[in-house]
Amino acid sequence: MGQVQVSRTGSTTTTTLVGEHADSLATVLGLVRSGTARTRPEIGRHSGLGRTVVTQRVNQLTACGLLEEGALGPSSGGRAPRELRFRARAGVILAAELGATSIGVGVTDLAGSVLAEHTEPADIAKGPESVLSRVEELFDELLDRVRAGTADENLAVWGVGIGLPGPVEFATGRPSAPPIMPGWDGYPVRDRLARRYDTPVWVDNEVNTMALGELRAGTARGHGDILYVKIGTGIGAGLVSGGTLHRGSQGCAGDIGHAAVSDEDEVVCRCGNTGCLEAHAGGAALARDGLAAAEEGRSPFLADVLAATGTVTAADVSRAAQSGDRASVELLTRAGRLIGNLLATLVSFYNPALVIIGGGVSGAGDLLLAAVRETVYRRSLPLATRELRITRSELSDRAGLVGAAFMALDELFAAERLARWVGNGSPAGDPALVEVPLRSPVF
Ligand SMILES: [Zn+2]
Repeated sequence: MGQVQVSRTGSTTTTTLVGEHADSLATVLGLVRSGTARTRPEIGRHSGLGRTVVTQRVNQLTACGLLEEGALGPSSGGRAPRELRFRARAGVILAAELGATSIGVGVTDLAGSVLAEHTEPADIAKGPESVLSRVEELFDELLDRVRAGTADENLAVWGVGIGLPGPVEFATGRPSAPPIMPGWDGYPVRDRLARRYDTPVWVDNEVNTMALGELRAGTARGHGDILYVKIGTGIGAGLVSGGTLHRGSQGCAGDIGHAAVSDEDEVVCRCGNTGCLEAHAGGAALARDGLAAAEEGRSPFLADVLAATGTVTAADVSRAAQSGDRASVELLTRAGRLIGNLLATLVSFYNPALVIIGGGVSGAGDLLLAAVRETVYRRSLPLATRELRITRSELSDRAGLVGAAFMALDELFAAERLARWVGNGSPAGDPALVEVPLRSPVF
């Protein structure tokens, strides 16, 4: 049987349910939340839990507002059971995706649906004080709007999820030596937001939140093993294995941008090494090589762009390639092959069912994606590519925002955490919830 632990923190008494009790509670909620079961008898059938246990867990979840009764459900003879519904509007999640040059913030319900969102240009290099102050301002504005729209001014923030454009130590929610984020190294992002909103906060690398967004609400729904590759200014990857995000022991799994792909040593990467993938195939590399092509007279299209705007961007190179500019076609094809070569190694090593290509550079045209595809299929073993799909991101630039919300939701509804807060009615007011250790991976 399950045990009950009672602890006293501050002025509130917390009753924590552990063991089987926590598991059955999370199971019942998960079945209704995912739409797998709609009535108590269906929950019983899917979970193998006895009728009394199902009734008790449903009552607990109803008492804290997570479940509600709806219409009469399907009857298998006799009295029709009441349908149960997950109350997605019991609380809200604040989600943010901070990129190198933009911030996206949103408020979602507990099903991960975006209720309000806003995106604007921003410079991550301005440092955490400036950037996070703006994020908090936007959170407050959106929250006011959602509260006004739902006529519920007490609608509580149940959690916060943040994606950052650099390595993050997931256990502490602090950036770890991020190359493009001066001033952010070791900054307590989680603690700051947890204090302000008095709620649990999770922080991760944006590539991981993008992979999670695709897994829960995008192209990768229903898949267990996927590789998400972001090709923007830099290049990074998020790995999902068996339906779980694989962060690695230090949280930097998937940092493929600095894998060595070339022996040439004239190009120095922003990490200080030479030969890195992103120094040859990332957005900044395309812009650099496009500028050289314009200056050296190898690209009339880019020379016109340079004359008109004073610079050349990766997006210009993509547009030039689409119009048939030879130098730009060569640049994108070369970048696609370099990325494809590395992906072929990863595909053979790890055998995903789906590779999703996202990020600013990937959206600019089919040429890069075609070169990536062609190289992966040519260089991988036939068995690894027989069922493999390589596709563009469905959520595009929203993947990170949606994924940040799902990160917080997955963590909140993990058995051990759910069991700790369900007695209090909501996780709001318990920032220390992030520290509850999980026995098994979140899924
Ligand atoms: Zn590098």
